[in-house]
Parts: sequence; structure tokens; C-alpha cells
Amino acid sequence: MKGCRKNNVRRIVLGGLLTMVVLVLAFAGRTVLFKNNLPAALTQAVPLAPPDAGRLQPLPGFASGAAFSMSLTPSQAAAQTSAKTAIRAKAAVKNGATVSKAPAKPPLPAQTKQKTVYLTFDDGPSKITPKVLEILRRQGVKATFFVLGEQAEQRPELISAIWEQGHAIGNHTYNHNYRDLYSSFTEFWSQIKQTEEIVRNITGVRPQLVRAPGGTFGHFDKTYFRLLAQAGYSVMDWTADSGDSRRKGVPAADILRESVADLTASRVILLLHDGGGHEQSAKALPEIIRRYKAAGYTFGVLDAEVQPVQFRVSASAAGAGHAQPSKAWIAANILPNRGLFTPGKALALEVGLLEAKLLPGEYTISGGQYKVPLRAAVERLGGKVSWEVSSRSGRVVWNGRTILADAAHQQLTITDGDGRQQIRSADVQLIGSSLWVSLRGLLDAAGHPPLTAAVTGEERRVKTL
Ligand SMILES: [Zn+2]
Repeated sequence: MKGCRKNNVRRIVLGGLLTMVVLVLAFAGRTVLFKNNLPAALTQAVPLAPPDAGRLQPLPGFASGAAFSMSLTPSQAAAQTSAKTAIRAKAAVKNGATVSKAPAKPPLPAQTKQKTVYLTFDDGPSKITPKVLEILRRQGVKATFFVLGEQAEQRPELISAIWEQGHAIGNHTYNHNYRDLYSSFTEFWSQIKQTEEIVRNITGVRPQLVRAPGGTFGHFDKTYFRLLAQAGYSVMDWTADSGDSRRKGVPAADILRESVADLTASRVILLLHDGGGHEQSAKALPEIIRRYKAAGYTFGVLDAEVQPVQFRVSASAAGAGHAQPSKAWIAANILPNRGLFTPGKALALEVGLLEAKLLPGEYTISGGQYKVPLRAAVERLGGKVSWEVSSRSGRVVWNGRTILADAAHQQLTITDGDGRQQIRSADVQLIGSSLWVSLRGLLDAAGHPPLTAAVTGEERRVKTL
């Protein structure tokens, strides 16, 4: 036992030394290595600390259990110019949709170096949001909104407005409640999925970007980072904090000062808020934009291709003892989720004279069966869908029939034109606020039984009667 501990200590010290060598090399070469972007050779050269490293001997400068995290803490992110310089050197900057997905290139010469700022607004939409949108529109600037599901539900028209105006929408969980979100990963996950469905029902697109309420620092352990990445999400913290949520009613002048504290970094991800009570942020916004423009910045929109900025795992989060999801839970939830964001083939549904397409991400395949969102599939094929509150079911009117899709009882109740009723068991799932059904079950129930299913180089296609 003692020898084992000794070995562990030796391994950690060796790991620490190697890590420091890598650090020195990295900074000498003006390159920063983000933890998700390590060259394979370096990753292999540096052993990870054993899980109990924290109890043995934390290495200086590293949190326990996170020996190889090179991400920033929020304060480092705000204050450390060297880190920003390093980010600049990374040259993985993407400006809106115009930069290709090419891997990181060497730094550009100083005179042609492009500077990009990503304005991000958290906690909305609220009644401040229209004001923010108006300022952005007038200034011809795009931004990214990390929205709360709870707010999106109340103000779907603002989610549409954000989307229509060409801004990006990220996921900021449903209720922002730290106690819920950071008690266990599965709770965080369910809020991400819930919000994702709310946004998708409004814009048709799933947000792939995730921002943790309060940032990841002090909140995320390694499991949060790992499972969200495995599920296909891009977790995004920030490099500059406007300070607008430090307390209530921070004056616009202070927000401005902190927002433009460093106008030399090549990449700034600026944290702002458009939630309720953030009038001062909107007030400061025109001048913030003016200063960044004057300093030669272009305004980028975040997406999953942009190199993420992530804070490191804190000792407190690593040691918080979050309940770990089971292997079975991960297999059922995390692994299939990735397919939602993998470019794939559209699913064409040929029903009578009509044809509808579900894009990759708008359907799933599990157990060899297509699963489709009830509303999208039916409405695109000319049917109507409403939510029946009393039975908590989706009510479909299609092809002269009424179908009640009931997730609680896993059944479809079909009423034909003559009032005859039939109940069939079916795979019906409530994901967030959206009902998903097996395509076969739905088509059978609607009197359009599938005839053929084919896959070509371009698409998947299901033909029905
Ligand atoms: Zn927030």
C-alpha cells in the first residue's frame, strides 16, 4: 500500500515535470494547448494523474484530479494577458461562417492579424432582448445568445427574432438553478435536453453550444466536460467578463470599462447579459461595440467549430462527489445523442402525393427503427398536431383520423372517420417538450403503412401506401 502511494507520488511528480516542460515549450512557441486540442504525441507523453492524486500531493498550479487541464479560471481569463496572447497565437479564430474548418495554422504576421470579438448574452430572452437586438441591428453586428429554456418558453417570439436576425443561439440550461444543475450530471443533462427541445421547436435547430450557468469553474467536474463532449456539445466559457452580473445594477460606465479592458487580444469572448434587470448592459452596448470596431475587431458568431474556451476543473468541483451516471445511462443517453450533430443524410418521407424531408438531427435511428418528432413529421405531411393538456398527449389529425400519442402509457389511440377506436402500444417518448414516436407506428396508425425503406448515397427514403 505504502509502495503504491510512493509510486503514485513519483508518477505525479514525473507527470508534473513533464507537464511543466510542455508548458514551457508551449509558451516559448507562443502556442497554447487547450485540453481538447492536444497534439497526440504530447497527450501520450504526459501521464494523467491517478484519480486520487488530490489526496496525495497536489502539484503547484494544478487542481487535484485535473493535472493536465490548461484551461483558464474566470479570473485568469479576465486578467491574464499572456493567456490571451497565447490564444491569439492559436490562430484558430473563426470569423462568422467565412473561415474554413481548416486545422490551426501558424500565427499570421502582426499587420494582417485578424482580431475577432464574440459578444455573448446570457440569461435571456427578457424584455431587454429587443433593445439589444435593435442595437446590434443598427450597428450591423452579430452576437451569440445563451438562452434559458424557462425564458424561451415564455418569449418564443424573441427566440425567433434572435434567430431571424442571424445571431447564434446557445443553451444555458432551463432554470439556471445551481443547486439543481450541479447536484448531478443527469440533472444538468435533462435541463440541456429540455431547453434544446424548446429552442428546436421554435427555430427547427438544436443548439450545440452550451454555457454553464455561472461558468464551468467551480461547477463542472471532469464527468460534465467529458459526457457533454461525447454527446456532441461544445461547452463555451469566456475570455472577458463585462462584470454586469457581479451585483445588481452595475452602472453602464463600469460595464463598458471592464468590457474593453484589453483591446489587444486577437480573440475575445465577452460575457454580457440580456436577462431581466440588465438595462445597464444594453445601455453600455453601443459604446462597447464602437470601441471594438475602432480597435479593428470583427464580430464573430460562435458555433461548434470555434475553438472553445473552457475553465479548468476546480478542486472543489472535482471533490464535490457528484453522483456519476451509470454505464447503462450513458449508453442510452450520451452515445446516441452525438448522432444528432453529425452531418448525415436527410430522411425523405413519401406519403401519397406528398413528400417531406427531415434533416439529419431531426430524426434518430435506434434499434433499426426511425424515430421522428411527431409535430415536424406530421405537419410537414399536411396533418395537424396539438397538445392535449388533460391527457398529456399529442393529438394528431391526419388522413381523416385522429391519433392520440400518449407517452405515459406508450400507446397510440386511433379514432377513424366513423368514430371507431383502436388502441395500439407504441414507442412514444416525451423529450423536453417534444413528443417523439417510431415512424412505423405513426405511419401505420395514420393509414399510410410503410412499403419500402431505402438508403442511397444522398438520402434515406421511406415510401408508404
Ligand atoms: Zn447565466
